[in-house]
Parts: sequence; structure tokens; C-alpha cells
Amino acid sequence: MATKATIADLFPDHTGMILVAKDVSDGLPRRITEVANGGDCGCVCFGCGRRLIARNRFDPTARAHSFAHRPEDNVVDCVSSGETALHMRAKEIIAKHCRVTLPATTTPGLDGKPVEVSPERSIQLTDVHLETAAGEVFPDVIATMSDGRRLFIEIANTHPCPPEKIEKLDAMGVEVLEITVSSYQRHPLDELDDIILDTAPRKLIHSAEVKVKAAEIAEERRRIEEKERQEAERLIAVYREPPSARHRKAAELVEEMSLWGFDEFMDADDTRPSAFIVPRRQWQAAVFYRFMDTQYPATVSPIDMVDRFRERKWEKPDLVFMKTEMSRKIAALAEDFKSAYDEVLAYMRRLEKAEVVYQKPGKTFYMTHDFKKKLKATLETLEVADANREVIKGVYRHIEELLKPRGARLPDFDGWLKQQADRHDLAVEEFLTDDDLVCGAEENLKEMNRVIDKRAAGEWDELPDDLMGLPLVDLVNGLMQAWHNAEESVGDGWRAKIEN
Ligand SMILES: [Zn+2]
Repeated sequence: MATKATIADLFPDHTGMILVAKDVSDGLPRRITEVANGGDCGCVCFGCGRRLIARNRFDPTARAHSFAHRPEDNVVDCVSSGETALHMRAKEIIAKHCRVTLPATTTPGLDGKPVEVSPERSIQLTDVHLETAAGEVFPDVIATMSDGRRLFIEIANTHPCPPEKIEKLDAMGVEVLEITVSSYQRHPLDELDDIILDTAPRKLIHSAEVKVKAAEIAEERRRIEEKERQEAERLIAVYREPPSARHRKAAELVEEMSLWGFDEFMDADDTRPSAFIVPRRQWQAAVFYRFMDTQYPATVSPIDMVDRFRERKWEKPDLVFMKTEMSRKIAALAEDFKSAYDEVLAYMRRLEKAEVVYQKPGKTFYMTHDFKKKLKATLETLEVADANREVIKGVYRHIEELLKPRGARLPDFDGWLKQQADRHDLAVEEFLTDDDLVCGAEENLKEMNRVIDKRAAGEWDELPDDLMGLPLVDLVNGLMQAWHNAEESVGDGWRAKIEN
């Protein structure tokens, strides 16, 4: 009678009972229900090959029928009966057909996605035998492939091949195929051929071809990384080149910002590396002006700003359109490296910290209301100062004109103006926005003007006490002397006429 024992039957049930044994007459599995009772069962243990006793005569409802090792054998070490039986069955099937299907193999490619190494294929096998000591590892089935290499076949019933075993097999450099039969527990042992040969899930735990391909890919990756590293070094050198261009308009913005007292928002003497070809202060001034020009709710984002700079070709050409991955690689090599975007963002953050701008969610900024107010007041003050400067300068120039015929020259106006401010411990702009001081200076200069006019006409008048540092005394006396001389020479003429 053909046995329909299944894979599951081979293994001790949940109470540890052995239910299937090997018939010594034909080597086939026999169920406990099929054999004679006691020592006459004619069966041996699949695991250890020892004689077994069948216990199947008593009432199965009272106690489960099962095979047992003989008490006199004192067996404590036999736990592999089922495993061995399954391996024997697999070996028989493979030996009978002399072949097995290998699965397609892949290995992670450069992009991490699997690359096929070999397709699924059926291979011819010879010399199929059961586990033999091969080094210290006992593979389930060993066979030889047509190219002479050995193939170890692991039959995984419930648990996959443990990692430590895979590691050892890997070190041996043999091909290792694992066939997983865990989902075929209810299959009769004599209907396992297709399952073992072709259909059960299988994978090549170790494959020389996969190893070679993986090594090739690793080498290729190394080559690419080396090339990228060289490119990164080149770009770092570019990044560290000093600015190579001056932008006239931007330079004017810098000067204006400086005039307004906003030097603190620019890096004037900057020698840090940069992604830009213009000096840092120039693009900073451009960012600052962009904020001035933008009315909330419009905002300025670092991306917008970099796009504008890109249009103006302010970015170092080699660094434009750099891939994020490359800039990350460069940053890993050079801590000081920043992309144009990062530099602009860092500047906007700095303005934010100084409460010049606010940041809206999503890295976009606008100038604060308070700062705009401050800016407006500054500009108004500067306008007043400019107007006052022109007024004082007008009178100053007029005096200069009066003295010109005498070959006299007044000090340079800007230098003189600074002296006036210094006298009051003020900056020039502060001096020019102090109404009292400006009026005083204007009145005083006008008074000098008036006196000079008078003296030039021969009339005596006192110069003001405060000559504001102007060297007028000798000049004015000289003017008067010239008038008298002219008058006297006219008188001499008349006298001569009378006397003749
Ligand atoms: Zn045994």
C-alpha cells in the first residue's frame, strides 16, 4: 500500500511524538498506523538509524500511538528524525532527476536597484549525496554541477538557514541553494518532485556569479566615487578663489548703505570663500535693497534671490547647477563650503536675528515694519543733511569767489565741514541735522560775506569773532589795503593835475 505520509508527518507532533519511521525492508516512510506493534514493526529512526518500537495497540483515545526509541538505547540526543527524513526524500528526488532549478539572481546595482546576474534556469547535477562532513558544516544535500563546482542544497522546512551557517558556507566559496518547503507541509512525500525541483521558493544564498558581479559593481562605484571626489576637490578650489568681478551698480549700493550707517549688515573686508564672483558685501547690499523694495505681503526668498544673481551671472560658473548630492559631498570634504543658496539664506537669517527682517513659514522673508520706519527716518534725516550741506556750501563758495581775485584759497569744503562737526564732537551728518548749529554756521558765514563785501568797497567793518577756522584776517586786510591803494593812486592823479 502506497503511503501518503506528508512532510508534516515526518516531524514529531506538538507532544514530541514520532509518527513516521523508516521501513528497513524498502527504506520508505511508514506511519505508526501501518506497522505491527512493538519491536516487530521493522522500522528504524530516520534520524539516528536505531531500531524503534511501535506503540499502537492500546486505545488511541487514551494515549496517542507513536514510535519510540528502545529504553535500553537510552536515546537523549536524537532530535533530527524528521529533518533527516525530509533531506533523504529531497536527495532521492534530485538524484532521480539529476537536476534542479536555480532561481534568477540579482545584486544591488549602482543605484541600489537590483541588477539581474543570472536568469532562472534548470541545471544538470551529478554525484548527488546526503549530508557529509564538508569542513565543519553539514549541508543537507551536496551535488556537483556540470562545470565541476559543488552545489550545497539546504532544505528549509520551517526555519530558514541560520545566519552563522550561511556565513560558514559563504567562506567555503561553494554555491548554496536554499529551497523552502514550509508551505508544503500537507503534501504527500511521494508527490514532492516538482516542488523540490522547480516550484518551491528558492534562493541562492551564495553564488560565485553574484559575488563577481557585486565586486564589479563595487569597483565601478569606487571609480565613480573617486572621480566625484576629484571633481569635489576641483570645485572646492573654485569656491576658495577670491572674488573676480566688481559690479559698479552693486558697489554704489554698498556705498549708499554705508552712508546710511548700515555697515553692520555687510561684510566689508571679507576673505571667506564664496559661491559668488562679486565681493560678499556687494551681493549682501543687493539682498538688502531687495528687502527695501519689497512691500509686504510680498516676500523675498533665498531661491528668488539666487535666481536673480544667476541671471546677473554673479555665481561662479562652475558652481551653478551643482547637484544637491555633489554639494553634500563637497560639504563633507570642506566644512566651510556653502552653496549660493545657503550663503544667501544664512545672510537672511542674520538680518532676521538683527530684527531687520521677519521670516514667514517656508523660508521666505520680508523687512519688518519697525526697520522700514527706521530706514525711512534715516533717509529723511539724510535728505535734510544734504539740503543743509548745500546751503552752507553755497555761502562758503560765495566767500571763496570774493577772495579769488586776491589769489586766496579756502580749505577744501568737506574737510572744513568735518572740522566744524568735530568742534561739537559730532559726526558730519549729525552736525548737518542740528538746526541750531546749521543756522549758526550759515549766519556766521553770511556775516563774513557781508564784511568782505564792505571791506572790498573800502568800508570798515568788524569780522565776526568766530572765523570758523577760516584764514580771513590777512585776506580781508589785504582787500582793504588794495582799496586804499587804489583810492590814493586816483588822488595822486588829481594832485598832479592841480600842481601842474
Ligand atoms: Zn533516532
